[in-house]
Amino acid sequence: MKKHNFSAGPCILPEEVLQKASQAILNFNDDDLSLIEISHRSKPFVDVIEKARNLALELLNLENKGYTALFLQGGASGQFLMTAYNLLNKKAGYLNTGTWSSKAIKEAKLFGEIVEVASSENTNFNYIPKNYTIPTDLDYFHCTSNNTIYGTQMKSFPETDVPLICDMSSDIFSRQLDFSKFDLIYAGAQKNMGPAGTTLVVIKNEILGKVEREIPSMLNYQTFIDKESMFNTPPVFAIYTSMLTLEWLKNLGGIPFIEKVNEQKSALLYAEIDRNKLFEGTAQKEDRSHMNATFKLKNEALKNEFDTLWKQANINGLEGHRSIGGYRASMYNALPLYSVQALVDVMQEFERIQKL
Ligand SMILES: *Cc1c(COP(=O)(O)O)cnc(C)c1O
Repeated sequence: MKKHNFSAGPCILPEEVLQKASQAILNFNDDDLSLIEISHRSKPFVDVIEKARNLALELLNLENKGYTALFLQGGASGQFLMTAYNLLNKKAGYLNTGTWSSKAIKEAKLFGEIVEVASSENTNFNYIPKNYTIPTDLDYFHCTSNNTIYGTQMKSFPETDVPLICDMSSDIFSRQLDFSKFDLIYAGAQKNMGPAGTTLVVIKNEILGKVEREIPSMLNYQTFIDKESMFNTPPVFAIYTSMLTLEWLKNLGGIPFIEKVNEQKSALLYAEIDRNKLFEGTAQKEDRSHMNATFKLKNEALKNEFDTLWKQANINGLEGHRSIGGYRASMYNALPLYSVQALVDVMQEFERIQKL
């Protein structure tokens, strides 16, 4: 039986996507060739990347609004560099909500002055700063919608006239937002969209062309826009599998549908974390993530016992990130509700055993 997979990334994908992706490796489109041994410029693959790009814009409700969707390489980490390279002239603002934001800030500092508009580092990033003021003279403002490691999530986004850039790696396509508020969104595929190897970038075309420096071709968004995301050989398997996941999501009812399921899943788990006296959540309640729930045992001495129990229950990937410890249950789009129920059952069983 497939394990209940709470892995933070690379993460669970829908069963039907894995089936179709496996089939395409052996025989793609009934052409008696594998997806990974045909030209990326052949019609069957060009159709795939076109479909993936269109589905991304459609699901985000950004069709015909001046945006382009690209499938790039280099991970979300590559975007820490690329966003600054393409958009930072003098000064940019960053909201520092965790490890990934900090890494984005480090890269951007190579290109200009960085204002850390607000930070929750003083409390090991267990909340999202609020009521900060964004200076008006910035080239852009950068934030991280969901902090995969710390289990916090932005529930609202600042109103600002400067371009808004968001790292949505771990919650893209998981909840309804007005995506047209953002000028650039990026997301590594491997959290909520596909396998590792590609990064979705959704960019409002008009924000480009405003920096003075020369940008190397491979780091220039315009190169990839002009070449329809095919300047060089793209990661064909990662893009194909992402397309399958986006198709799966669309057929289910898109983001409005999956958002409700995600709310159900996280409500079920957080209710147990709050009810069960053996556990406590690590993120502030109002900022809790619907994707990654972080929690810990009140008594660390029980760790081995609990670990044995959840592993016996066919659960995978519950260990917290090394920088915060404890547990982290990642509940991405493809994780079924019954997997969350299985975890809740284990937590209740653990409580029962402790009372004996
Ligand atoms: C995982 C993650 C990253 C890093 O992604 P890579 O594709 O490994 O570079 C960046 N930001 C967030 C929010 C993440 O969850």
